[in-house]
Amino acid sequence: MFIGHYAAGFVLKKKSSDIPLWLLFISVQFVDILAFILILLGIEKITYNPSSNPFLRTILEYVPYSHSLSANALLSLIVFVIFWKFKNKQWATVLSIGVLSHWFIDALVHAADIPLIHDSFKVGIGLWHLPRAAFLMELSVFLIAGYYLLWNYRHKMRHIILITLLCLGFSSMFFAPQAEASTELASVVSLSLYALFTLLAYWSEREFKKQYA
Ligand SMILES: [Zn+2]
Repeated sequence: MFIGHYAAGFVLKKKSSDIPLWLLFISVQFVDILAFILILLGIEKITYNPSSNPFLRTILEYVPYSHSLSANALLSLIVFVIFWKFKNKQWATVLSIGVLSHWFIDALVHAADIPLIHDSFKVGIGLWHLPRAAFLMELSVFLIAGYYLLWNYRHKMRHIILITLLCLGFSSMFFAPQAEASTELASVVSLSLYALFTLLAYWSEREFKKQYA
């Protein structure tokens, strides 16, 4: 998923309002951030099939260190230990759930290219085979989670701007014509977008610190 991962971030934010949203955004996309760095380093590999629907254009060819369930569980455990040691158990629990949520949300939509252990036993329920349904579902889940987060906020304008920009970014990916891009360029663009979304999440909470009920 794309913005669907941030829905998990919104729900976790509601449960533990003292954890900054930007950090939750990094946690739920940690696996993809790691994947694109490893792709740029030539360690992991994705391929493109421009003739597929927008969701299925990217195929995870070799992603054992970022997208296997075994690696995701280990990353989640490492995040738990680091935050337990340097912050507290609540932050450790919530952020490790954020990291682990990525695999399960991806497994729902991906078409059998998500490994269970290292590079073996690839699974994926494949909702992306139904692009319109997948698009509407992801957008709905994201908006419902956004509403769940914001309904009792007094100052929500910045969050609404954040949510709108994410929806526009996601929709443009779906509706824009396919551009030919190398996997390196696509990785740099994706990492830049994650950085931008993280900055926007930081900005959305920069003022109005006392807004949380
Ligand atoms: Zn992913």
